[in-house]
Amino acid sequence: MFESIAQAIPTDTIVYGGVVIQIKRLDLVHPQISGNKFFKLKYNFIEAQELGLSKILTFGGAYSNHIAATAFAAHQCGFDSMGIIRGEELANQPLNPTLATAQHFGMQLQFVSRQAYREKTNSAFLAQLQQDYPAHYLIPEGGTNALAIQGCQEILTASDLTDYDLICCAVGTGGTITGLIESSAKHQHVLGFSALKGDFLQRDVAQLTSKTNWNILDDYCCGGYAKTNAALLDFIQHFEQQYNIPLEQIYTGKMLMGIFDMIDQGRIQPQQKLLVIHSGGLQGKLKGST
Ligand SMILES: *Cc1c(COP(=O)(O)O)cnc(C)c1O
Repeated sequence: MFESIAQAIPTDTIVYGGVVIQIKRLDLVHPQISGNKFFKLKYNFIEAQELGLSKILTFGGAYSNHIAATAFAAHQCGFDSMGIIRGEELANQPLNPTLATAQHFGMQLQFVSRQAYREKTNSAFLAQLQQDYPAHYLIPEGGTNALAIQGCQEILTASDLTDYDLICCAVGTGGTITGLIESSAKHQHVLGFSALKGDFLQRDVAQLTSKTNWNILDDYCCGGYAKTNAALLDFIQHFEQQYNIPLEQIYTGKMLMGIFDMIDQGRIQPQQKLLVIHSGGLQGKLKGST
């Protein structure tokens, strides 16, 4: 399944402010599932298989693209899956489309309180989980770990490394951009648009790579994760009308709004050869909150 995905991802061309922008459409990999998530899962699933584990255990918020992608990919690859979902109260409500999709693909959902969920990176909590679910292969929230980064190194093809000098992507946990950075050529710059407020991602990613041909901006996060404003929603609507490429408001809408603004400001210039990674996320479109 993963082999067929990496091949032949289409690229669309748009022009704005005299800048030619190539958009790599990972969103077309599957109508509901974020393209970058497949790359993050690939080597994790191979590892699970090698360890003889038949069940995948992971975490996410109620609208998580990672949860939807894991459920789908696990189903395709013959794994059972369990998702630990933030928000105890959700157990008594009808499932939203993300969780309904996950359940449809066989993911068992377990709802935990926000307080318990906060422990998800705590080593004692994780050790306890491994004890409680010994046959499960554990993937962290958002799917980012060393194997995810290895998978994201396959997003760029050989010609991407010679045809472009600026590569843009949206950033959540930093796994995708780290893979792009690791695989990028020396003359290329990788620019990340954070969906979250703060400079911690710049520090986190610096821990994961020794390269320096990159940076992450939070200027276009619109106040924080899953926060929106009228300007962003307006931008997305106009962009979709003009270019006929769908965006969502959590990652790709903020990134493209940022790219257009940087072009307006002359911070991205017509002579630059620009590749933009459309990471998908359309299953979460206009669902708003985390
Ligand atoms: C998860 C996701 C990202 C962020 O990827 P990270 O590896 O967590 O930084 C970007 N775009 C979309 C659409 C996503 O679903």
